[in-house]
Amino acid sequence: SDEKSLNFLEEIVDSDLKAGKYKQIITRFPPEPNGYLHMGHAKSICLNFGLALKYGGYTNLRFDDTNPVTEDTEYVESIKNDVQWLGFQWKHELYASDYFAQLYGFGIKLIEKGLAYVDDSTSEEIAAQKGTPTQPGTDSPYRNRSKEENLKLFQEMKEGKYPDGAKVLRARIDMGHINMHMRDPILYRIKHAHHHRTGDTWCIYPMYDFAHGQSDAIEQITHSICTLEFIPHRELYDWFIAKLELYPSHQYEFARLNMTYTVMSKRKLLQLVNEKYVAGWDDPRMPTLSGVRRRGYTPESIREFCDKIGVAKRENLIDVGLLEFCVREHLNKISLRRMVVFDPLKVIITNYPEGKGEMLAGENNPEDPNATTRDVPFSREIYIEQEDFMEVAPKKFFRLAPGQMVRLKNAYIIRCESVVKDSAGKIQALHCTYIPESRSGSDTSGINVKGTLHWVSVQHAVPVETRLYDRLFKVEDLGDAEGDFKSYLNPDSLQVVQAYAEPALLEATTAERYQFLRKGYFCLDPDSTHTKLVFNRTVTLRDMWAK
Ligand code: ATP
Ligand code: MG
Ligand code: MG
Repeated sequence: SDEKSLNFLEEIVDSDLKAGKYKQIITRFPPEPNGYLHMGHAKSICLNFGLALKYGGYTNLRFDDTNPVTEDTEYVESIKNDVQWLGFQWKHELYASDYFAQLYGFGIKLIEKGLAYVDDSTSEEIAAQKGTPTQPGTDSPYRNRSKEENLKLFQEMKEGKYPDGAKVLRARIDMGHINMHMRDPILYRIKHAHHHRTGDTWCIYPMYDFAHGQSDAIEQITHSICTLEFIPHRELYDWFIAKLELYPSHQYEFARLNMTYTVMSKRKLLQLVNEKYVAGWDDPRMPTLSGVRRRGYTPESIREFCDKIGVAKRENLIDVGLLEFCVREHLNKISLRRMVVFDPLKVIITNYPEGKGEMLAGENNPEDPNATTRDVPFSREIYIEQEDFMEVAPKKFFRLAPGQMVRLKNAYIIRCESVVKDSAGKIQALHCTYIPESRSGSDTSGINVKGTLHWVSVQHAVPVETRLYDRLFKVEDLGDAEGDFKSYLNPDSLQVVQAYAEPALLEATTAERYQFLRKGYFCLDPDSTHTKLVFNRTVTLRDMWAK
């Protein structure tokens, strides 16, 4: 990525540093702890932490916890875990709620400057006062309260004298402002609610706009990076900093990450969880970081993906196939190769002595220069895939057919001699012979065959459960889809298939990644027990959706 041209944010940081504007840059990742992080957050994390790493600054993890109703400590822990899993370490762990006293002081300061007032209007009245983008708003009847009265009322709001919704604190800017966000925005509302950190200390809570920029300024964030929908908020961000005479943090906006076949909003993901369309936040079909982790995606591949897609200034839709491509590339490098038969057809090797067996060596990973091997037991009866045999095969079918030869991976060349059927004509097994001189690694047979099949020894096969995932949604662009997004769920997004694994997989761990030869990349699911192994298909070997 060093040779790549700078993205627009890197250009800004680069020129700020060259101009001596800052000694070091400070960024922040500001999640609201009201849900689990998703791939969109991964983009933001890579961007914020990546900038600080590249330019020698640091990044704060700041929980934007100003809404007591939706937030929870459970989410705080999962967010910290996810950021670290992605490979990043924050400098300070901070909470907007730690600034509540300071923010309250900022409210007082604005009142004293004649720049804020307590408004008794209802939320409907305030909405009506706002006007429209083409029509100016109207002043609230409470707009010209005296400073003394405002100070007293604001304090009483804080002391719990008033019920929810009875009053708000508003900035006193301009009800005719061309930017709707500047039309006397609400700074504080009354909410008698328990907060996950401050408990019942507060019954007034600051709005996002009154908390975010000020938190940035308190932490001396140099570059505050957010998504495009905050462009119209920037003027207000700057207004608070100017009027409160705070550290001049600056807000920059980039396009949020949207992916095909994916919803990426915590609110929608929460619905999928609550209404049981998925098994939980970490369901491997979910675009949450806990979901893709369980699915087997690696942090390296996610970072690579975020790097590849770059930083856009306009909304766009990224092909989820690109993410899968990055996952495949990385898994190809690190996966242990294993053989698993999904749809077994028994093969009896008639010239292999009964009761005999031998241990063959299978390469763990041909991509690894220090590749080691594993033991692969071979015996007279093995399973191959049903689809690797055809009784009447077309010319270019290089797998098994009567009279045809194939190589068994890591083992011998076999020839199909006859087909064993039941009385109904259904194929029960194949009778094959093997070529003893053709053993992989010491093949002196001189025979060349085109096809290589994966297989497992019947006697040693370990039954496992595999979970095969498809897209969670049927439509490409859910942003464009009309009506309830849940009506676009793919009913076949999960298929559970019993399979037969080679015994090396008995030692599988969740830390490893596996390539089931010719089948895809898999990882051990935490649902696994000693008696039942469960594997998730992370991604297929090739792009099955390529056009
Ligand atoms: P959602 O819209 O899914 O509820 P959010 O923006 O409300 O997400 P926050 O916890 O407020 O979630 O987000 C933390 C940070 O992550 C913010 O800076 C936000 O801009 C960024 N972020 C959220 N979603 C995306 C996305 N899809 N692409 C890039 N950045 C995102
Ligand atoms: Mg938010
Ligand atoms: Mg949001």
